[in-house]
Amino acid sequence: MMARLVFATNNAHKIEELEAILAPAWEGFEPGVVARMAEFNLPDPVEDGVSFAENSLLKARAVCAATGLPAIADDSGLSVDVLGGAPGIFSARWSGRHGDDAANLDLLLAQLADVPEAHRGAAFVSAAALVLPDGREFVEYGTVEGTLLRERRGENGFGYDPIFVPKGFEVTTAQMSPEEKNAISHRGIAFRALTPRIIEALTA
Ligand code: IMP
Repeated sequence: MMARLVFATNNAHKIEELEAILAPAWEGFEPGVVARMAEFNLPDPVEDGVSFAENSLLKARAVCAATGLPAIADDSGLSVDVLGGAPGIFSARWSGRHGDDAANLDLLLAQLADVPEAHRGAAFVSAAALVLPDGREFVEYGTVEGTLLRERRGENGFGYDPIFVPKGFEVTTAQMSPEEKNAISHRGIAFRALTPRIIEALTA
């Protein structure tokens, strides 16, 4: 029987992103090896950790405990220099309503309206956790640094992508194709770092 792991997310895009990273790295890879949480009818775990790592671990632990399968989770956000690292773990609900990307971005733009170009640095940060049924836990991180524009540019991506220009680029991550963004993204870096652990756990 094919070994499987569960990704503690309901975001199909993240599952595709992980599969795109695993496939070339893993000789025995088969599509479907990454199960989605929806298959198991699990409640969303409460994300009450105070760091990206804690939140990724608590999501992966909950799903591993409920399914008995290795579980993966990620937690990510935008960390703005002049805001002392905020919105950080509050990125998805910065404006008060969880997942309202447009309102979150509008609020951030208003807060930074008077901040000059030289001080508009920010980074996307991600923690990716793998929790195994035998109790072992692994966390890897990914960061991509950049600067924030004053208005939106580009239609791709989600969240704060339309105002984020990664270092070394002249376009926002919303102007990149999914492949271009995955190659440099915080989540891509964290998933790639976790890949050897995932393969080991499923093939050992
Ligand atoms: P989550 O870890 O998927 O819950 O992401 C938390 C929030 O961080 C999202 O709702 C976005 O606001 C922001 N975020 C995380 N990753 C990205 C990204 O790649 N682009 C834009 N926004 C992101």
